[in-house]
Amino acid sequence: MISSSKFARYDAITKAFEILNDSSIHKVCQTAPSVRVGLGDEFVLPIGTNVKGKMITALRLLGFDRVFDTNTGADFTIMEEANEFVDRYENQENLPMFTSCCPAWVMFAKKNYPDMCKYLSTCKSPHQMFGAIIKSYYANKFNIPKEKIKVISIMPCIAKKAEIAQPEMNVNGIRDVDLVISTTELAEMMKRKNIDLEQLEDGDYDSPMGNATGAGAIFGVTGGVMEASLRTAADLLEGESLEKIQYKSVRGYKGIKQATVKIGKRRIRVAVVSGIQNARTIMEDIKNGKAKLDFVEVMSCPGGCIMGAGQPFMSKNAWDYETIQHLRAKALYSIDEKSTYRKAHENPALIDVYKNLLQAPGSEIAEKYLHRKYEM
Ligand code: SF4
Repeated sequence: MISSSKFARYDAITKAFEILNDSSIHKVCQTAPSVRVGLGDEFVLPIGTNVKGKMITALRLLGFDRVFDTNTGADFTIMEEANEFVDRYENQENLPMFTSCCPAWVMFAKKNYPDMCKYLSTCKSPHQMFGAIIKSYYANKFNIPKEKIKVISIMPCIAKKAEIAQPEMNVNGIRDVDLVISTTELAEMMKRKNIDLEQLEDGDYDSPMGNATGAGAIFGVTGGVMEASLRTAADLLEGESLEKIQYKSVRGYKGIKQATVKIGKRRIRVAVVSGIQNARTIMEDIKNGKAKLDFVEVMSCPGGCIMGAGQPFMSKNAWDYETIQHLRAKALYSIDEKSTYRKAHENPALIDVYKNLLQAPGSEIAEKYLHRKYEM
């Protein structure tokens, strides 16, 4: 008998092939930071291999017209979230601010701590933001009717399948994202089409939004959202480009990390949490006054999205969880270190979109495309 989760899996794959086989549709996909360091497991490559280039070629072979990088979407999230945090911090309002890019965490907070939801960032998650940008800025630039565009997000995550259906995830009635395919589902699609990842040449993301920063890359690992946001928040708070890039105190795999980050004369109290049980602990500590914080990152999956439920775990007999986590995280930090730009606000692709559409982080138009409200 096929389990209900398997039905859901086949259903998503069937839907993806239906979209790919429809010649009237402009087919766009975007790939999350963690997919490139997980997909190789399904093709028996060494754990943590970055298969970005081969994955892009595979997606083109499957029939996508454009292949974009959700890391660019993460750069938009950093811009908006850092701006939102700086605003709240300077006004000492609605602190601590909680990140909102993990839909399972947002769902948990809404259900269990409704009185604390005003502390959640209003930012949509990176792939939702990027879907909205693809169906506005990209559609207009290339004169493609937005109704003709279907965006498929390739994600390490199962919770994002439900996220795209939430009522607020649209702009003027056009859904930001049309379908979510997990990393393992993408591998299954490739296998059905006899695409052998290892044999493929490297491809590159499409322009004009294929450029992402190292800040976007580290979104996939616990602590990465916090570190990326601090890079931009620090420059915003100090009004200049600071040399500091790495915030090592928010790195590592502990379920709850707390640190005080010095930015100029300010002492910003941050926490990084992964695993839903740890989220409960930090929420209780905040409620009881045991934890005094300004900014909190929460990811439901222990270790962050690199260990999401949509990622392959083929090698569980040979490798333990910590080793897989470490190798995937190492691959993402290596992408960051090799990136030309490591702060989201320095990304030329973003600067162009803000100049031509969004105006500024937190502007009315940015709110319309990139932010959400919380229906309770
Ligand atoms: S931490 Fe897990 S549930 Fe949350 S966005 Fe990442 S993969 Fe999805």
